[in-house]
Amino acid sequence: MVVGAGVAVSLPTFVTDESFSAPGTVTLGEDAAHHMRVRRLETGVRVGLVDGAGMRGEGVLTQLAKRHAVVSVESAESVEPALPVHLLLPVADKDRMLWLAEKATELELSSWRPVLYRRSRNVNPRGEGTTFQQKVRGRMAAALEQSRGAHLPVLYPEASVEHAVAACPSGARLVLEQGGKRLFEALTPLIADARDRGAGAPAVTLAVGPEGGFEESEFEAFVGAGFVPVSLGRNILRFETAAQSGLAAVRAMLELVGAPDLIQPL
Ligand code: SAM
Repeated sequence: MVVGAGVAVSLPTFVTDESFSAPGTVTLGEDAAHHMRVRRLETGVRVGLVDGAGMRGEGVLTQLAKRHAVVSVESAESVEPALPVHLLLPVADKDRMLWLAEKATELELSSWRPVLYRRSRNVNPRGEGTTFQQKVRGRMAAALEQSRGAHLPVLYPEASVEHAVAACPSGARLVLEQGGKRLFEALTPLIADARDRGAGAPAVTLAVGPEGGFEESEFEAFVGAGFVPVSLGRNILRFETAAQSGLAAVRAMLELVGAPDLIQPL
């Protein structure tokens, strides 16, 4: 919304549990209602809406109750998803997984795929189960509201390495490992090839290991499934740092897809 002097003021924005269209009304759940009260919003104010599946809109708050709120939707637009990037992350420390959930949403992660590695079992308290998954979604929703995104990552239940690999989308597959290839070297030929074939950018799947690292058999399962080992530098990074940095680097490279002259095979 633009006000005096052309200054764009971003509306307080809330993730809806259901999709919406304009003109129409949408009911928001307890989390959003609580969030609105914390922000001392009153009926009549304009708010922003996102459904987490690509719909973004604006409307007027018409009802604010203890467990729900109602918004009269005045405008709605569909937002294209970002180029697909998927993450196989370790089941690990709860707080650090929640931190990563926030950053990954800001970086427009497409799907969140927790993997129960053998070394994940040594971690307590670790983030797993449906209750924890709801916490992940809550953290992602808050990050979506703050980052003005429109797409929430698709959440998968934790899986073994075998099941996680079997469920992986096709496309470019990278496993983060200190001794691997440079990320740029691994991705550039794939992006250039896609460009030369006039095809869109390949979906990219990143796999990150647990604290203590992969077991040899786990690492071999990834390499056997076509994952290319890639390095993010010589230091040992915490899993959440490696995941976030890998995601940011891949996003930056995928931005180049739209700029063909910048991508020259090495
Ligand atoms: N492998 C190490 C060990 O033996 O302690 C550390 C594991 S590290 C804490 C967790 C995961 O982050 C690793 O399995 C890897 O996927 C990723 N990682 C850490 N540092 C990295 C780097 N420099 N380059 C690429 N990936 C890295």
